Amino acid sequence: DDGWSTTRFVVLGFGTAGYACADSLLQAGAEFVTVLDDRDTEALREKAQILETLGATIKLGPGSTAELPAEVDVVVTSPGIPPHAPLLAAAAERDLPIWSEIELAWRLRDPANAAPWLCVTGTNGKTTTVQMLTSILQAAGHRAVAAGNVGLPLLEAVMDPEPYDVIAVELSSYQLHFTHSMSAHSAAVLNVAPDHVDWHGSMEAYTADKGRIYENCQIACVYNVADPATEQLVMDADVIEGCRAIGFTLGTPEISMVGLVDELLVDRAFVEQRASSALELATLDDITPAAPHNVANALAAAALARAYGVPAMAVRDGLRRFRPDAHRIAHVAEVAGVNYVDDSKATNPHAAQASLLAYDHVVWIAGGQAKGATFDDLVIAVAPRLRGVVLLGQDKLLIAEALARHAPDVPTITVETADTGPVTNMETVVGEAAKLAQVGDTVLLAPGCASWDMFANYGARGDAFAEAVRRLGDS
Ligand code: ADP
Repeated sequence: DDGWSTTRFVVLGFGTAGYACADSLLQAGAEFVTVLDDRDTEALREKAQILETLGATIKLGPGSTAELPAEVDVVVTSPGIPPHAPLLAAAAERDLPIWSEIELAWRLRDPANAAPWLCVTGTNGKTTTVQMLTSILQAAGHRAVAAGNVGLPLLEAVMDPEPYDVIAVELSSYQLHFTHSMSAHSAAVLNVAPDHVDWHGSMEAYTADKGRIYENCQIACVYNVADPATEQLVMDADVIEGCRAIGFTLGTPEISMVGLVDELLVDRAFVEQRASSALELATLDDITPAAPHNVANALAAAALARAYGVPAMAVRDGLRRFRPDAHRIAHVAEVAGVNYVDDSKATNPHAAQASLLAYDHVVWIAGGQAKGATFDDLVIAVAPRLRGVVLLGQDKLLIAEALARHAPDVPTITVETADTGPVTNMETVVGEAAKLAQVGDTVLLAPGCASWDMFANYGARGDAFAEAVRRLGDS
């Protein structure tokens, strides 16, 4: 007996992750599965019925999560629930194990037949890096899939009856917080900058949770040479003996790094360790878009792929075939000699800074929900490039104040939007940006903020922007 049938599980949250966890537990033979969620909708009830016929107990509606049941051995939690939520605090008080969906997936995979995990976390660039990595692995002929926070739910990937060769796993800091026994083949932390600090309680706690990706790592811990916090996390981690630290850098790589020499991506880590040896992997032309932060993502993906043994040729082919998801530095149109770019996915200042630094003269459209972030460092870094700024959304004043402090000469227009609810005047925003722009400039939507005050999500925000740009072009 592997213990699944007799263990009493409580699953917190009945969203996508909670459903997948409960369903997988039942498939694994668990006989005591209780799911709790304070919400109660038609859709949830339908899903509940399916699992109830398989033997689960589902409690929906207000009060369902008021108390942790007395009879429970393991709590399985969902990403939205912070550690200080009462039920998790109660579980910690009782010394109960708390598992994320990732921990559950790690334990449910068939060790005899399990695909290695190549794992990626970081404040920004996770999805792009995991997709690049998947493209490279597939170019090398492997049956590979992107899973976790992107693509397939990780539980589905590990339970697939036709096993994968290797899984590229995107992990959020939320998921890592409650992940304990995972042992990645190789893992990367791309960068660490303030985001989601509310959930974790402090920047230190957020950073430490990112570092959990390196625990028990087997082959390579990949870190960002330009972000010393990531290297420190490698040094602090307990890894399997023989696991190496591999840096990625936009500069010339030292031994045990991948990096750039002229316009070439080169590997000085997974080659014979002679002082002179560097293996060419790809050129900057193979990367779309070749903005510096995206080249860094490509280098991180290449390092993980090389750790897995992928040949240089496949790195190049995989990068060439890769196209980024929508709303990530997506070129929308050129109107009157000005380029319009949608980077609505830049939902925190660190991301917005990376995309602003890709342009010499830029009109920046920013604002939304700042989630407690500050904008001083960002404004200081990008001020010389700013032709002008158009601000909108709930926390626009926060950005306006940072601009007044560090870039008082940059013309800044504030557009009033409804405090909550949908934005209907995106045309005004784009129109103001167009007035500030000169021929050859870029108008960049890189809000540095979440979109939830004004839009359903960052995708809707980017679509509204693109629509307004198109209308500008038509007029
Ligand atoms: P994530 O999955 O971590 O949110 P994405 O790949 O979806 O990351 O990229 C989100 C946004 O973050 C991009 O639109 C871009 O603005 C920014 N970004 C991407 N890669 C990096 C990076 N390496 N460093 C800083 N910002 C980045």
